[in-house]
Amino acid sequence: MSPFPQSTVLGYPRIGPRRELKRALEAYWDGRSDRAELERTGAGLRARTWRRLAELGLEGLPSNTFSLYDHVLDTAVMLGAVPERYRAAEDPYFAMARGTEGLAPLRMTKWFDTNYHYLVPEIGPETVFKLDAGKPLGEVREARALGYETRPVVLGPVTFLLLGSALDRLDEALGRYAELLAALAAEGVAWVQLDEPALVADRTPQELAAVREAYERLGALPDRPGLFVAAPFGDLGEALPVLAATPVEAIGVDLVLGGVPEIDLTGKTVVAGVVSGRDVWRTPPERAVAALGAIQASRVTVSTSCSLLHVPYDVEAEPGLDPALKERLAFAEQKVAEVVALATGDVGSVPVSRPAAAAPEPVAAEGRAPYAVRAAAQAARLRLPSLPITTIGSFPQTGELRAARAAAAAGTLPQEDYERRVEAEIERVIRLQERLGLDVLVHGEPERNDMVQYFAEHLDGFAVTANGWVQSYGSRCTRPPILYGDVSRPAPITVRWARHAQSLTDKPVKGMLTGPVTIVAWSFVRDDLPLRDVVFQVADAVREEVRDLEAAGVPIVQVDEPALRELLPLRRAAQGGYLEWAVAAYRRATSGAGDRTQIHTHLCYSDAEEILAAIDGLDADVTTIESARSGARILGAVGAFGRGLGPGVYDIHSPRVPSAGEVEDLLRRTLRVLPAERVWVNPDCGLKTRTYEQVEASLSNVVTAARRLRAEL
Ligand code: GLN
Ligand code: ZN
Repeated sequence: MSPFPQSTVLGYPRIGPRRELKRALEAYWDGRSDRAELERTGAGLRARTWRRLAELGLEGLPSNTFSLYDHVLDTAVMLGAVPERYRAAEDPYFAMARGTEGLAPLRMTKWFDTNYHYLVPEIGPETVFKLDAGKPLGEVREARALGYETRPVVLGPVTFLLLGSALDRLDEALGRYAELLAALAAEGVAWVQLDEPALVADRTPQELAAVREAYERLGALPDRPGLFVAAPFGDLGEALPVLAATPVEAIGVDLVLGGVPEIDLTGKTVVAGVVSGRDVWRTPPERAVAALGAIQASRVTVSTSCSLLHVPYDVEAEPGLDPALKERLAFAEQKVAEVVALATGDVGSVPVSRPAAAAPEPVAAEGRAPYAVRAAAQAARLRLPSLPITTIGSFPQTGELRAARAAAAAGTLPQEDYERRVEAEIERVIRLQERLGLDVLVHGEPERNDMVQYFAEHLDGFAVTANGWVQSYGSRCTRPPILYGDVSRPAPITVRWARHAQSLTDKPVKGMLTGPVTIVAWSFVRDDLPLRDVVFQVADAVREEVRDLEAAGVPIVQVDEPALRELLPLRRAAQGGYLEWAVAAYRRATSGAGDRTQIHTHLCYSDAEEILAAIDGLDADVTTIESARSGARILGAVGAFGRGLGPGVYDIHSPRVPSAGEVEDLLRRTLRVLPAERVWVNPDCGLKTRTYEQVEASLSNVVTAARRLRAEL
């Protein structure tokens, strides 16, 4: 067996440095191009990646890291786990990914604790695993034709089955993996990478036994490539000795989030993930060199901690960044260069002149009276009907508005003209809500490009990028802001827009802010301060904004925390500590409000039932929550919830307009588990991605349903 290369990366971004894949996908979906055209774009991106990695001096080039949509979906297709209902679709792959007319897509959820989302494999009793190795083999051949030998990267059997809740199908799945390994060996592939991120979370003894069985069996195959099992996103813990006792030749460990293996791995190659694939900072060479030197193994190879999928392509594509910040940054290209430098011993030094961390100012966390006192004060002030109707904040963002924002940023539209447009949009949204008969109005967030980026642009301590796109799912990318220094709020951010909205109506207007955990969760964050301290700094900035909104006469302030669950550590032992400080940060952000000011919070994509105690701990007066999509599962859990609650009455992610009858049904179910005086009526999430036509029709049905029920109370 040829030795494992001296340097490698576990994976690479695939959307394209200028989001070429996104454009190609959209053209294909819109019928502006065909599948062949899409494949050509994919091939071009793959070729570019291999060429670039080779130019940078990387030895071990990965393949099969490209995907037209999602690598977990690719694995499901490779193993034949395509549910029957998609098979007749014109394009089954994209039908599973995005749904078709009348066919819902596979469920999508977060990839471990990253901001990437994968499609959950659907494995039922009727699923028959059947190998189609076309994609991994195709990429190996394609690279070879360009002169590159590559290591195919495939999701490992244990993680794949755990994601599909089907570990009981291990025996059968291993049969297909064995066929895959034989096919790769026949193709002359020297090494294969099997990704097993599930092994860095808590695993039961049965699950660890499955790991043992899987790698004993695959290891015992007579014709196979070298087996490299990679475990990104944390510490292997108990799974490491299990894996080490199997015949796998190479083990990939995350030395950024996990520790140096304490056991002796003589006989193995350790693929040492010393360069972080999760952040945007240059690697301090001393730390990496020390970690590399501390590993006991027959061979140590330099690598990234995880796939570089989670970082943007290239710092050099950011001419607008402050040079002093830029020299501290490493995106994918720079990280590859770091891996190569560490492998060749040419490490140089990294300017790590981080600003000294300022301790957040002490703020008394509890300024508010108990809920009952607040509720009475708010009821007297707001005079809302029962079952008050509201929305989550954003209204449709028209193309015109986006164009105006871009023109204002480019300097071609005078700032004042842009502000007039925003004001006009606010007025339109206020009038629409009045006409529909909503009770608590919002300004509609027309001034925001994105609920995190907008705040990052207005807070000190953050930088935003021009091209720093990172794939969120499929064709969707975000440009996470970079939180690099101490965070502070130089001036009020949202107050003028909220004040303008309130000046237009007698109904109460709800100010709209993003919470500290969500701002941090969706940014790249400095690593020289504990995450907790960073979140508290942001919380203090939000706190100032809450107080200024209140002082401006805004009677309700919503502080969104949709990402509350996203930072939850993978290992249970660490979860309680996290939730405790996350909740404390939220309370710090909101507890400056007086008792007469009603605090709302909103959560979504977050399997809220699991963290209901923490949500309760936020102590918001009203919590609006995703519920329609998860089949109102949340209703089974909220009975004990002691304050205002608005389980979403329809799914805003779909263009479908809910009927008044459906909404009424859902409300009736809610009223069975919650006292009417605590129930709010609202959609699942913001309306930003919908059209005005859909929004008007949907909200009008919501109002009809709420009024029918009100009449019965
Ligand atoms: N207030 C935000 C909006 O309405 C909330 C978005 C979210 O929860 N993701 O768009
Ligand atoms: Zn939401």
